[in-house]
Amino acid sequence: MFRPRDRRGHTLSRVTSHADSELFADLTAALGSLPAAQQPDWPNPVAVDEAVAELRSMPPLVFAGECDQLREHLAAVSRGEAFLLQGGDCAETFDGVTADNVRNKLKTLLQMAVVLTYAAGMPVVKVGRLAGQYAKPRSKPTETRGDVTLPAFRGDIVNGFEFTEAARVPDPRRLVRAYHASAATLNLTRAFVGGGFADLHQVHAWNTDFVRTSPAGQRYERLAGRLDQALRFMRAIDIESENLRTVELYSSHEALLLEYETALTRVDARTGAPYDVSGHFVWIGERTRQLDGAHLEFASRIRNPIGVKVGPTTSPDDLMALADKLDPEREPGRLTFVTRMGAGKIRDALPPLIQKATASGLVASWVCDPMHGNTYEAPSGHKTRKFDEVMDEVRGFFEVHAAQGTHPGGLHIELTGDDVTECVGGGDPIAEDGLSSRYETVCDPRLNRTQSLELAFLVAELLET
Ligand code: PEP
Ligand code: MN
Repeated sequence: MFRPRDRRGHTLSRVTSHADSELFADLTAALGSLPAAQQPDWPNPVAVDEAVAELRSMPPLVFAGECDQLREHLAAVSRGEAFLLQGGDCAETFDGVTADNVRNKLKTLLQMAVVLTYAAGMPVVKVGRLAGQYAKPRSKPTETRGDVTLPAFRGDIVNGFEFTEAARVPDPRRLVRAYHASAATLNLTRAFVGGGFADLHQVHAWNTDFVRTSPAGQRYERLAGRLDQALRFMRAIDIESENLRTVELYSSHEALLLEYETALTRVDARTGAPYDVSGHFVWIGERTRQLDGAHLEFASRIRNPIGVKVGPTTSPDDLMALADKLDPEREPGRLTFVTRMGAGKIRDALPPLIQKATASGLVASWVCDPMHGNTYEAPSGHKTRKFDEVMDEVRGFFEVHAAQGTHPGGLHIELTGDDVTECVGGGDPIAEDGLSSRYETVCDPRLNRTQSLELAFLVAELLET
């Protein structure tokens, strides 16, 4: 259950504006009476209130104006004029906040984006699953290893991954650590992107440490060579654009932990509207999108662009009810459906949803998450995904949209910039019995750098046809 209280209201008035205090009171009153799935059982509510009070005094991580810009870009996606690339870890970790880790992830995203932009001939909207992706929904509240059963790991924002009783106790101080970890990640991301790292003249540099011998690496080099030529041509005829020097990269995460998200929801001074300033884009997961639940109520009250995951059991009426709740004004760019059907189901499950939306005049972005419907357990016990099934779901997504005459708006991928062995297959194939060599995820298996780039090339072919 979600029940933050304003125990330190008197001290808060120093740091929290009246408008923000009113908004917080409204939100907690509205959400407090609703069922909230997937919330931790905090052992010490007073410490939760203290953490929430501290978060409420912190500056925003993102600005409302940036969220509005992203909404405009997503409106272009929904009109078929842009493509969304959203990717990053399943679960970020506090230990993962290092320069190498963040840079490698960004490199992978930038490389994928170049491949997709070149193929699609349209803008690629870049959104990281980063700087806030610290809370995880779980299918079971406990985890059993051998004869030991402990509370499940719910993400670094709640408890520790280590399989010990002490680590698994929810610790409210982690709420504040998650804020700082997000701030550090976002700061580094903004510095990389704004400081020349994302300059298109660097396309080769993003690849230098990469296995040039791998087919995907070599294919990328050829594309980078063509881009170089195009850039030289543009320079020769004196075309310069700031768009060559930098990119816009937005942050996103699942809005799961309501204490954290409400504490970081603020009134925008320009418009008086509430924004969740913990990230530019937030989504509601498959396990928390109950129509009468606190998560949808929360999302309906913020102005950020919103995603909602839709799985294979979603009915056309469910879809419309989600749209009515989250986007009653039918505002361009507001709503993104992230479909996660499974390779074997997408060709049957997606068409009725698109048909209903089209018949109702609903304009939303359709984005394919080919990861979450394709997870299985390898004989070794590792949670994994087959690259071929991931690709097959993406192919099914494109086929369905082609048949329906709608725009396959983008990709939502779990990836890392490192050479991990978490998903099987790919052009440099990883076998089920090789998973343990570099299996580092604390939650779902991610595509490694080679697999991510291969996926981008395969999607590029689909975009070109
Ligand atoms: C996720 O994106 O990590 C996730 C849990 O997805 P879903 O809600 O679609 O299961
Ligand atoms: Mn996941």
